[in-house]
Amino acid sequence: MTDATSTTPGLVCAHHHLYSALARGMPATPRPTTTFMEILDQVWWRLDAELDLEMLYWSAALGALEALECGTTAIIDHHESPHAIEGSLEVIARACADVGVRVRACYGATDRWDDRGRLRQTVDPGARMSKAARRGLEECARHIRAGGDGMVGLHAAFTCSDETIEAAAALANELGTGVHVHVAEGQVDADAGARLAPHADDDWLLVHAVHLKRPLRGTIVHNPRSNLNNSVGYARPAGKRNPVALGTDGIGADMLEEARIAFAVHRSHDVTASPDTAWSWLATGWNLFPEARADRVTWSYGSMHSAWHLAYTTGVRPLTVVVDGETVLRDGRVVRVDADEVRAKSAEQAARLHRRLAA
Ligand SMILES: [Zn+2]
Repeated sequence: MTDATSTTPGLVCAHHHLYSALARGMPATPRPTTTFMEILDQVWWRLDAELDLEMLYWSAALGALEALECGTTAIIDHHESPHAIEGSLEVIARACADVGVRVRACYGATDRWDDRGRLRQTVDPGARMSKAARRGLEECARHIRAGGDGMVGLHAAFTCSDETIEAAAALANELGTGVHVHVAEGQVDADAGARLAPHADDDWLLVHAVHLKRPLRGTIVHNPRSNLNNSVGYARPAGKRNPVALGTDGIGADMLEEARIAFAVHRSHDVTASPDTAWSWLATGWNLFPEARADRVTWSYGSMHSAWHLAYTTGVRPLTVVVDGETVLRDGRVVRVDADEVRAKSAEQAARLHRRLAA
């Protein structure tokens, strides 16, 4: 006989894109996407280019609300809005604070927008740093220097010049933080390891690492559902020497579900795999975001400390969530904001965004 409820620290999403909460319901791509590059080009790079700060606020508020409803109290976010760079991280931080979720934000600097505002799919490593990349790094610096919880962000090596990568690493050292970067998610970025190795450090977040061919210092963030969705292959995180954490890559912040998927994919490659491995990846989040250890989530299930229970028990929900000593979710409902209003405002902003995409 087990108790009906049990308590854990707040869960951590180690890689999120809060701006993507408004993607749901977006118009279909002009033609079916057939490769990872086409998914970036036709979906995400079209979407982020249309974002303004008002859309971003409600997207982040909705993402934060849905995180709390899943017992996730800390989010490590990776943001891009190329036509609304300045002030974007403060907007994300404010939206999360309004809901009561911890967030560590960064702007993903990239050279894929040239100085005339044209999109390049890949960037020559020897190219000069673009104005857009400089503005992205400056946004990270501004946020951190103003006292915000942040990292330095890079989109990915294949859309950054060596000059930009070097500048990001130097800025991170100067600010005492790490770099949060997509690494070898698709074949197109397979030389990321060689490009980043001279700079990478233990406090870097290496997101995906599916096609990483060489060791690189940092924590690997595994995003199993996103990798399945983009058909980029399996990262085989259990075989890596790095610490491994779990992220959602912008598909919500339900970390129990992400851990279940991580276990299922691990199992699909190794029938002897135990769910303890995926649960250890979830626990790595507390090393990255130690403040979440002090948060308290009371769950609708009594065996939250058994990976074998959790791997096969769906529908487990938080009843109460306490962040930094304050109850921010009670009886499954957020306390600080009106959830219905956040959903309604987010739907309005999503409609405005989708109209721009359809234009
Ligand atoms: Zn990502």
